[in-house]
Amino acid sequence: MEHYCHECGKPLTIRMVDGRVREVCEDCGWINYEQRKVSAGVRVQSDGRLLLVQRGIEPWYGSWYMPAGFVEVDEEPDQAAVRETFEETGLQVSIKKFVDVYTYSDDPRGNGIVLLYDAEVTGGELTITSEALQVGFYSPEEIKEMPLTGASGDRQVRDWLNSRMALMKEQE
Ligand SMILES: [Zn+2]
Repeated sequence: MEHYCHECGKPLTIRMVDGRVREVCEDCGWINYEQRKVSAGVRVQSDGRLLLVQRGIEPWYGSWYMPAGFVEVDEEPDQAAVRETFEETGLQVSIKKFVDVYTYSDDPRGNGIVLLYDAEVTGGELTITSEALQVGFYSPEEIKEMPLTGASGDRQVRDWLNSRMALMKEQE
């Protein structure tokens, strides 16, 4: 697919710049420095169950993930996580603490990072949107049978499952 200059609209050519392959405009000198996209998401638990959404759109149609989405250019990541959770699940949440940062390189929309937060439900009602097939709280046993998304959604859920298992062992 041919790409065009953001500054002057001429077709870009591919060249080595600073030791990396980049798209360059031979006309005006503009260089396309590609960067990771920033997303934010939430880990919401209730009675040992995890809040998950089943995607109703591509990529990863039919697979499950914790509510998350891209951070707008003028938005704080934790605000984006709260907004995306409401848009994707109908639940209002408040952020408790930062959990971890995940990177991914398997999304056709581009490479990115996800900032994941622990959050608690403060209001709202579980609602299915046009972009989701199902939404709800699921037990570790149920989740083990569910297909998970890429873009680190699978690793986020597996890390939660592992931390739950470690917690159960401690309590034995
Ligand atoms: Zn140009």
